[in-house]
Amino acid sequence: MASEFDLIGRYFSRSAPSALLGVGDDGALLQPRTGMSLAVSTDMLLEGRHFLPGTDPAKLGHKALAVNLSDLAAMGADARWALLAIALPEANEAWVASFAKGFFALADLHGVDLVGGDTTRGPLAITVTVLGEVPPELALRRDGALAGDDIWLSGATGEAALGLAHVQGRARLNGEHLVQCVARLDTPQPRLELGGRLRGIARSAIDVSDGLLADLMHILQASGVAAEVRIDHLPVAAALAACGDAKLVRDCLLAGGDDYELVFTAPPHHHAEIAALSAELGLALTAIGTVMPGEPAVVVRDASGAEVPVARHGFDHFS
Ligand code: ADP
Ligand code: MG
Repeated sequence: MASEFDLIGRYFSRSAPSALLGVGDDGALLQPRTGMSLAVSTDMLLEGRHFLPGTDPAKLGHKALAVNLSDLAAMGADARWALLAIALPEANEAWVASFAKGFFALADLHGVDLVGGDTTRGPLAITVTVLGEVPPELALRRDGALAGDDIWLSGATGEAALGLAHVQGRARLNGEHLVQCVARLDTPQPRLELGGRLRGIARSAIDVSDGLLADLMHILQASGVAAEVRIDHLPVAAALAACGDAKLVRDCLLAGGDDYELVFTAPPHHHAEIAALSAELGLALTAIGTVMPGEPAVVVRDASGAEVPVARHGFDHFS
């Protein structure tokens, strides 16, 4: 049976060229570049809460890092370093090897070095901490939205939630749609390039992890503004367009979590620049609404301007 230090040595000790000192000492030594502040974020994945027992470890490795990198994207930060704290019920080397493969494939894609962590025995739980760099004055915060800003969404929401509905037997997907929705759920792609490019353009940003409306509400609360979202402007992915359950589709679009797209606000004079950025990145960027003066609240309207009743804003662990 591998020991704790065998596992660390075999699977988590890689050279970290971007660190002064990486894995192996009591702490790592990191030096942000001149003019940069550190953007730091952490997210936990628990078996039975965030993923089902038996989940493919490579996908878990990807997702544990991806959800964290998504937070750096939403700050407009360049991802640099990660720490990994993992509790494992047993020292299953094949499992750890596969987990590490998924983790490092995504880390390498974004130039992220693993510089430390903790490995212990316990019910399967994974906590990743990421560190990125952003000039402090250009960080994309939740509190910068102003009345009159356009509200933008990258990609489309709802595919991950529809994938989850399929897994839970609440929807029936097949073929390409099934593959796409389950991929969105299992292996989300953090919008790091977009986040970095939105510095100086977006006034506020957040990543959609809990639901479009729920996460937009966080911007509204932090900024002290209201919003109108046009449901007919929301991009609708093919799997949702093909789904016969209109109520489920609407819920996935407005309240589905786990997509890890970015919602951001920007003054209208940036419209053309954002359209050009969308073309350059090959990523849909859609104006879905407007920031309004008023108490934090979001109203959803249809094409005629009529208010659309909304049952749910998103996911909450405690409600
Ligand atoms: P300490 O007892 O000083 O906290 P540990 O024995 O927990 O150190 O860890 C030894 C080294 O291995 C440290 O540099 C730590 O950051 C690193 N490490 C432990 N677990 C992991 C992991 N899962 N991923 C990356 N680095 C790890
Ligand atoms: Mg120590």
